[in-house]
Amino acid sequence: MITHGPVCSVNFGPLAKDEADRLEQRSGIYEYIESLRRNGQVIGEEILSIIDGNFTAFVSVFEAGAWGAEHSSRDTERNFGELLKWFGVGPVWSLIGSEDEAPPHWQDSPWLYVDAVNSAEPGLLLLDGATGRSIPLYTVPMDQERKERLIFHARNMDRLYRLWFSGVLEMEVWRELADPLSPTAQSGREMARELEEAMGRPVYYWLIRHYSFAGALEIQRPCPGCNGSWVRPPDSENSEVKFQCHACRLVSEFGKDEGEDPAAEIGYRPEFLPVI
Ligand SMILES: [Zn+2]
Repeated sequence: MITHGPVCSVNFGPLAKDEADRLEQRSGIYEYIESLRRNGQVIGEEILSIIDGNFTAFVSVFEAGAWGAEHSSRDTERNFGELLKWFGVGPVWSLIGSEDEAPPHWQDSPWLYVDAVNSAEPGLLLLDGATGRSIPLYTVPMDQERKERLIFHARNMDRLYRLWFSGVLEMEVWRELADPLSPTAQSGREMARELEEAMGRPVYYWLIRHYSFAGALEIQRPCPGCNGSWVRPPDSENSEVKFQCHACRLVSEFGKDEGEDPAAEIGYRPEFLPVI
């Protein structure tokens, strides 16, 4: 398993004597870690083991200190309270190995984007425009309910992405992913708008691109939202982002798969298609 950020061991305390109580302890631990994951503090799956009679989890965190109470959501606080009932004390977090370079924070980002395609992991989907590095979601001043919707969106995108390869539904699913006016994209773009409101700086929505127009047409393709020119200069910061429309708040990439013109046209209204 490849992880993101530093790895920690988390010692929750000794196992209860009674087996039913041990099951309760374990489910309390899972719920606590899941609430941290939904808030972007923990990244990826945990490993729960028993070491010297204590429940001990190994998790990857966004950055050193990401587990701190100052970043807690209401869910985490409630789950923390449950752990106190079972163990008497809070979990003890220890960093294992060296600490990664600290991530960028949204206050330092001139613009950001939401990319739920390349990262279905909720804690990693908000990216700094300049560097393409993930921003800790728990630092964003937005209420928990809205963050939860963002996470739901990420999971939905992940499911669609997997379904895209299923064959039968390929093009229907592709339209849902690639058309900026599809219900899925509309809801993702609405979330980008909410993030923009919360942070007071531009937040774009990453529009996946796979099928490509032939040759130079791909580089010249207009913004599917407004038909405007949106190609970025080649020396732009963050080379992942090849296209950016300020008016539509969309960013995108070059397609990789040439020779599938009908598929490359998906996401474009007919009047917006480049002349072939
Ligand atoms: Zn546009």
